[in-house]
Amino acid sequence: MCSQEGEGYRLLKEYANGFMVSQVLFAACELGVFELLAEALEPLDSAAVSSRLGSSPRGTELLLDTCVSLKLLQAAVRGGKAVYANTELASTYLVRGSPRSQRDMLLYSGRTAYVCWRHLAEAVREGRNQYPKAFGIPSEELFSAIYRSEDERLRFMEGLQDMWRLEGASVLAAFDLSPFPLICDLGGGSGALARACVSLYPRCRVIVFDIPGVVQMAKTHFSAWEDERISFHEGDFFKDPLPEADLYILARVLHDWTDAKCCHLLQRLYRACRTGGGVLVIESLLDADGRGPLTTLLHSLNMLVQTEGRERTPAQYGALLAPAGFRDAQCRRTGGTYDAVLARK
Ligand code: SAM
Repeated sequence: MCSQEGEGYRLLKEYANGFMVSQVLFAACELGVFELLAEALEPLDSAAVSSRLGSSPRGTELLLDTCVSLKLLQAAVRGGKAVYANTELASTYLVRGSPRSQRDMLLYSGRTAYVCWRHLAEAVREGRNQYPKAFGIPSEELFSAIYRSEDERLRFMEGLQDMWRLEGASVLAAFDLSPFPLICDLGGGSGALARACVSLYPRCRVIVFDIPGVVQMAKTHFSAWEDERISFHEGDFFKDPLPEADLYILARVLHDWTDAKCCHLLQRLYRACRTGGGVLVIESLLDADGRGPLTTLLHSLNMLVQTEGRERTPAQYGALLAPAGFRDAQCRRTGGTYDAVLARK
């Protein structure tokens, strides 16, 4: 039956089940499966995992076997029973505290983004984010909705920094930034990208500019401020004076906002920028025709359900940068999740 139905039917089933795969990953992270197996002295059977996690024997066995099928865990038979251990993929990317861990981003995706995605059809109908339906909160002030509690703010900041530990160096190397001694990372969050920046360009200094609640949390929960080349500056980039700098980084900032708000921000930044300086936009770039790559289109739908913005093509970024006064916009695709556009004053 299945083979007669062919490729279209196979693809349909793969797409329909995609959410279940995500949920297996999110649930295993949420329950702490990968930390437990990382800390165990030897592979554990399903009864031992369920007893240490306080989870049901039936649910645990089903989850563990599905994780094996997804190559997140490996199983062996010992004394007639299956025992489980992390695969290299899980040890590298899923265990809390691993230098390349993506666990916090996955927790954020499972607890927050996924809840907004449940309302994708409404988001498409209405053309706006779904915080009111997903969490019962107003979203006129976007970051008041995103940071609706201290816990949520921390979760967001932790989640976002995972990416820069992996891909920060490659995106910052897309252009030679050594001619820019003073860099301001606008909306720089925890300072994770600033850390990658000073490690790649040891002679630069980076000012991380963000709203007060984020800067305070960056100082209490994250370690970028311990590096003397990194400083933090509190403010609202739409209203408050911006620090003078040679280069402004806008990483995953413009995709949050409408064209009108992006233009307003870029005009302010142009005025603050030193002559000969520039702006580095770090975003996931759409193809010129706007119909690919798939991951970027999915990110753009994520912006629909969670923000006021969208992902854009290189030409669309050029059309935002030029009226603000920036010239010579150049775009470099990194082959990773995020790309870079550099324009000069
Ligand atoms: N650049 C960081 C990164 O790539 O991980 C964070 C990106 S996050 C999507 C957007 C950032 O912009 C957040 O850190 C947020 O607090 C900051 N932000 C939002 N509105 C702001 C405003 N009006 N003034 C300053 N920062 C703002």
